Amino acid sequence: MARVAIVTGGTRGIGRAISETLRDAGIKVAANYAGNEEKAKAFTNETGIPSYKFDVSDFDACQKACEQIAKEVGPVDIVVNNAGITRDGTLQRMSAEDWQAVIDTNLGGCFNMAKACFAGMRERGFGRIVNIGSINGQAGQYGQVNYAAAKSGIHGFTKALAQEGARFNITCNAIAPGYIDTDMVAAVPANVLEKIVAKIPIGRLGHADEIARGVLFLVSDDATFVTGSTMSINGGQHMY
Ligand code: NDP
Repeated sequence: MARVAIVTGGTRGIGRAISETLRDAGIKVAANYAGNEEKAKAFTNETGIPSYKFDVSDFDACQKACEQIAKEVGPVDIVVNNAGITRDGTLQRMSAEDWQAVIDTNLGGCFNMAKACFAGMRERGFGRIVNIGSINGQAGQYGQVNYAAAKSGIHGFTKALAQEGARFNITCNAIAPGYIDTDMVAAVPANVLEKIVAKIPIGRLGHADEIARGVLFLVSDDATFVTGSTMSINGGQHMY
């Protein structure tokens, strides 16, 4: 029987590539998004993958949505925690709201989704959780204390949950992407981006499907002994 996956933030950017790559591998995918209806509708029309609007930072909304997806698509075997936001600014300028929003979405979202799906995975004796961290969670980044803290937290969350899930055949891994050519990176000023690319040994930005193939590996039967790991996919920019 086909496995069922939820990909948060799965309707555009890296998440869209993950949704499509898992679908192409025969997995039934439900893609989540926060509010960009236009992109979500176009995504569902073009791919045939259903999309579900809910806020991953809202605990109750995650519980409800995961129940609905279990009914409509099937019991959830795979969770890809990909939804993420940036609210950049130096500590000096960062508001408490911008700190909290990034922690609640990027890190809190992983907790909320894992809470909603872990019990079912335990009962069925199978689960795959993949959390999308970041090179900036490994190395830090100027103007991103909120984002770096949340992403770094994801890497710790992954290792702890891997220990809890192991005896139930639930693996939990992270991917730490480097700079990938999505809308999030399009928001970085051109002169800053030029300097970043100059520091990438492979000499270019990554592509979303290069992250998606890493996710596919981690949820596949080729990775049955891989848990608690962080796979860096960053063109050699940071070797950790
Ligand atoms: P995008 O900004 O292109 O897409 C973000 C996705 O997350 C959208 O689908 C968005 O929904 C969704 N989303 C945002 N907030 C929420 C929320 N509260 N609830 C549900 N969904 C939400 O991001 P990328 O594709 O660039 O990034 C994907 C992940 O990869 C993020 O976690 C990011 O931090 C990480 N990453 C990205 C890198 C890059 O270079 N691009 C580098 C390292 C890590 P909607 O469309 O409705 O807005």
